[in-house]
Amino acid sequence: MKRVRFRDPAGAVRAGEWLDEDGSPAGTDTAGTGGVVRAGGREYAPAEVSVLAPCEPSKLVCVGRNYAAHADEMGGDVPDRPLLFLKPPNTVATHGSEVRLPAGKERIDHEAELGVVIGEQCRNVDVEAAMDVVAGYTCVVDLSNRDDQRAEQNWVRGKAFDGAAPLGPVVAAPGHVPADASVELWVNGDRRQSASREQLIFTVPELVAEITSYLTLQPGDVIATGTPEGVGPLDDGDEVAVRIEGVGRLVHTVSMPA
Ligand code: MN
Repeated sequence: MKRVRFRDPAGAVRAGEWLDEDGSPAGTDTAGTGGVVRAGGREYAPAEVSVLAPCEPSKLVCVGRNYAAHADEMGGDVPDRPLLFLKPPNTVATHGSEVRLPAGKERIDHEAELGVVIGEQCRNVDVEAAMDVVAGYTCVVDLSNRDDQRAEQNWVRGKAFDGAAPLGPVVAAPGHVPADASVELWVNGDRRQSASREQLIFTVPELVAEITSYLTLQPGDVIATGTPEGVGPLDDGDEVAVRIEGVGRLVHTVSMPA
């Protein structure tokens, strides 16, 4: 199942399911483009609804340098334990939205990431039991303001500005997403990032175990598992699309005030 939250044409917030063209919940790639949205015994065309973030995180726990080739392009070593930082709820932006980036910056980068959506409150979860607390997967863009990230320790200006975590469009059940699912990102139709989740240095169960050994995760919280190589700068008006195999496509634009 691919769960979606949306505002219907009458303005009501609804939770439902995003089905592929053929009505199959097992389809892999439609969400974010075509198909049909079903909720409350009704069907909606995706174009007639306003897609909301598929979950309401109390926090996003983000992982840095979790692909070797990206650690290399950033000039850093692969860490011996996951490098963690937080994005608060103000960073959430929706599928189809325009993210207004902080003004006057030289370089704000895209980072395509596999998002892990937590299904239940959890703490001290073992690696072996980690998938029991995972509701599914979504697409995340970890928008990164390098101007300030390089100049500050805790990356509040760098990573936690409003809209810095476009998220969605659905939460796909774990069974939809293969172990070697592709993670790809395009800017204005040009593919800039492409990798397989098999290349993650720390796996999803390892991340859940490590993070919950320090803090409680809540239903709807998101672990952003790190970005592959190919990060790069965004310009005013760019369209960013992330596709994760088995989840679908998350699309948003950015504006960049001078
Ligand atoms: Mn990142």
